[in-house]
Amino acid sequence: MNILIFGPNGSGKGTQGSLVKQKYNLDHIESGAIFRQHIGGGTELGKKAKEYIDRGELVPDDITIPMVLDVLKKAGPNGWLLDGFPRSIVQAQKLWEALKADGVKLNYVIEILLPREVAKNRIMGRRLCKNDPNHPNNIFIDAIKPVDGKCRVCGGELSARSDDQDEEAINKRHDIYYNTETGTLAACYYFKNLANEAGFKYIELNGEGSITEIKETLLAQLS
Ligand code: AMP
Repeated sequence: MNILIFGPNGSGKGTQGSLVKQKYNLDHIESGAIFRQHIGGGTELGKKAKEYIDRGELVPDDITIPMVLDVLKKAGPNGWLLDGFPRSIVQAQKLWEALKADGVKLNYVIEILLPREVAKNRIMGRRLCKNDPNHPNNIFIDAIKPVDGKCRVCGGELSARSDDQDEEAINKRHDIYYNTETGTLAACYYFKNLANEAGFKYIELNGEGSITEIKETLLAQLS
């Protein structure tokens, strides 16, 4: 099974992606994580990519596109969940051309919809538990609100990620995501328009629901 997932930063895309990945035992291919691995490993590609990433800009296509297509080709037999790519109309076109050329079937495209202001508040409200980064806490979401300023799961100390508090950086990332002309939403709509003729299912999810609600709606539509 091969799946593309779209959603703005703050929409719960990472959480839903992990759940889907586990259920179908897919390779979770995240362009941002591949870049971070290269940077951590000190590769040439990592060095080139870092300057763009640090500025909150997209890494140029001549680096990004071959890198992602190469990882896709090496995915395991159960298929992949691709996350963070494509982020522009050009990347969408190149991805679709490559899949067609390699005879790879795309099964699902998932879009998590969330208004921009809501996405921004969610990011700024996220709090990290010092005992376990997977304990969800967010001061703006009632279902996962910290209790007396401490982790709602274990009572641990909470802190905010510094990049989550950087409004300018969040706005920059969202400018790219919500751009329907050339940005990530343009890439998303490119696939939406292809869905019928190309024979894959396009699933739209309301990102304002709780993690469990979104997960249940999603899994019901995948099976
Ligand atoms: P992410 O972890 O998805 O937020 O990605 C971190 C950073 O990696 C982004 O801010 C970009 O600089 C870069 N990046 C990730 N995916 C792409 C992509 N598809 N095209 C260009 N740059 C990307």
